[in-house]
Amino acid sequence: MLKVELLRYTPEPDRLVAAAARLCYSAVGIDQILENMDSEQIQKLLNRIRESGHESPMEHASFTFGIEGVSRALTHQLVRHRIASYSQQSQRYVKLKPFDKVVPPTVANHPEAAAIFQETMDQIAASYQRLLEIGIPAEDARFLLPNACESKIVVTMNARSLMHFFEIRTCVRAQWEIRQLALAMREQVKKVAPLLFKLSGPTCETHGYCREGKMGCGRAPSLETLMSCFNKQ
Ligand SMILES: Cc1cc2nc3c(=O)[nH]c(=O)nc-3n(C[C@H](O)[C@H](O)[C@H](O)COP(=O)(O)OP(=O)(O)OC[C@H]3O[C@@H](n4cnc5c(N)ncnc54)[C@H](O)[C@@H]3O)c2cc1C
Repeated sequence: MLKVELLRYTPEPDRLVAAAARLCYSAVGIDQILENMDSEQIQKLLNRIRESGHESPMEHASFTFGIEGVSRALTHQLVRHRIASYSQQSQRYVKLKPFDKVVPPTVANHPEAAAIFQETMDQIAASYQRLLEIGIPAEDARFLLPNACESKIVVTMNARSLMHFFEIRTCVRAQWEIRQLALAMREQVKKVAPLLFKLSGPTCETHGYCREGKMGCGRAPSLETLMSCFNKQ
């Protein structure tokens, strides 16, 4: 089962990012940037950097998550996000006896598919064990392991990168498992940085258009549709 925990984060992320923006826009020194800012001022500064695309101040706040109960299929997608740091449980050093697996709901809810899935997993687990027993190193025996194999990973992303991650991975068209993870991560950062992540999520929610093009769910017009309406005016 998916488990996500926000392990550590930069203290007062909303205030710190606003302070970095404040330094850019006003004649204050570093002794004053964190002082005398109420939530309204913080929100104003955060809105300003978001609206103008001046997003680099968001890089000063970072968030570290512990994640487990996810598949290797998920972690492979996750680590494609390059503006982040990762530490994943190794299949070279850790012998998986037996290995836990993530079962997609479409499989779990279909008795025949669930039986095929289970049978295949049992077969793989038995063959993996057999290879270990006859002396094949774990780093080679793991070649048998499937995408369904459960994994654990620690991820650190800064707020800018997280915003991008939430934009593409909380979309209803995103693959179900990484979407579940992105929604859980967003819920947790919203508790500690409510202003920074107030307007986070897919572009249909934050900008009123869909970036999925023909694959969109129809909830919001595509950018192409919006542009053609704009160009006709
Ligand atoms: C709907 C969907 C379908 C996908 N399908 C596939 C697929 O079929 N095959 C596949 O291989 N992947 C696929 N991906 C993964 C996708 O290509 C990205 O690797 C992944 O989403 C990470 O996004 P990113 O590169 O924007 O993020 P990050 O790596 O975190 O980068 C963040 C941003 O930094 C900038 N950046 C980072 N590195 C560079 C660079 N080298 N040059 C220029 N700018 C850079 C870009 O602006 C980028 O958006 C898919 C993703 C989605 C959401």
